[in-house]
Amino acid sequence: MQIFIAVKNASIVVRNMKSFEVPIIYRSPLITAIKKKRKELDNMKKDFTPALLDFGPIHIYLARHFGFCYGVENAIEIAFRTVEENPGKRIFLLSEMIHNPQVNADLQAHGIQFLQDTHGKQLIAFEDINVDDIVLIPAFGTTLEIEKKLNSIGIRTEKYNTTCPFVEKVWNRSEIIAKKDYTIIIHGKPGHEETRATFSHAAENAPAVVIKDMKEAQVLAEYIMGEKPALSFYDDFKEQYSENFDIEKNLQRIGVVNQTTMLASDTQAIADFLKQTMISKYNLTPANSEERFADTRDTLCYATNDNQSAVTGMLETEADLAIVVGGYNSSNTSHLVELCEERLPTYFVNSEEKILSAKEILHYNFHNKEELLTNNYLPQKNPVKILITSGASCPDALVEGVIKKLVRFYPISKTIEELTEHFH
Ligand code: SF4
Repeated sequence: MQIFIAVKNASIVVRNMKSFEVPIIYRSPLITAIKKKRKELDNMKKDFTPALLDFGPIHIYLARHFGFCYGVENAIEIAFRTVEENPGKRIFLLSEMIHNPQVNADLQAHGIQFLQDTHGKQLIAFEDINVDDIVLIPAFGTTLEIEKKLNSIGIRTEKYNTTCPFVEKVWNRSEIIAKKDYTIIIHGKPGHEETRATFSHAAENAPAVVIKDMKEAQVLAEYIMGEKPALSFYDDFKEQYSENFDIEKNLQRIGVVNQTTMLASDTQAIADFLKQTMISKYNLTPANSEERFADTRDTLCYATNDNQSAVTGMLETEADLAIVVGGYNSSNTSHLVELCEERLPTYFVNSEEKILSAKEILHYNFHNKEELLTNNYLPQKNPVKILITSGASCPDALVEGVIKKLVRFYPISKTIEELTEHFH
């Protein structure tokens, strides 16, 4: 059996990176060893080839970058520390901490209760909490309205706020655009917690509209160009525009920010398209387009960019199938699935339990939002080559669980533990 990590550009650069106290159950000794090794060899993340785990009859290719991001580790550390430091206190989470069912279930097992579900539906009334309670703000952030509501009860939101700094960066970018009198176009999923929070913060400073994809960008462009009756805007973008939005005035100068986890290629295409729309409408050139279109870079976070680049790099390796591990409502994970399924059969699972046997796998179709059962997902060949990655809210332990389950179906000669030892 051959075990190696394929790497190039092996320059070692020291970089300061905060590390977090995350429960050991979320870690995987194998993946920690691989990530550590790759970091040592390629600290600037220039090499997006996958790491090969060669078990003989099954080859697993692990993406260069996947799993818990800065914002998720930060949120988990704060949540568990809050539980530890506050015995006897009631602790609430505004909604799901992150989009991972196992982590959310663990938090609930530690006594944390959720005030809202992931769609903003109230599970526990705000009237039922009081000044002695603790309310954690999740990594996605929250709306100003909810923050005010909690403050009015006497809850100190700033002390237990796990909002990711990369989400706050989007809010800051919106504020800068707003100060220059641009309307803020938010490219994001309208119902997603982060986009709802960003919309609320943006709308505090300027008119704002949420568009979810290129199709909605094209509809918005028709209003900018005056090709659609102005009044139908309020139906087409129902619940996606800020109060008192004036279609006649508020689409004359625009700037775009994104939910941090969108697909990079979509984000770029939408910004380019809207910029071109403003250029056409106002007879501008790229040189003076800033008169009508705020020239800012996208607001995707580093984890989104790295995970998507790592998948693109991984897809250059010939393989039979891909498995993407993560929560079914995780935006960043679904985009990794989207990239993989353009190239090869892809199975989106939230734990190794979905791999029922060597013959059957249960997996999620995020387009139709349903779980499917597929037979004969593993081809009859030697070796079988499988690409694996996971979303930014997925514990490495779950990915290791998937690897362990898969290798069990083959006569391999080394255990995961031996392989881990090899990387040490
Ligand atoms: S995916 Fe990005 S924005 Fe979201 S929590 Fe992670 S680092 Fe922060």
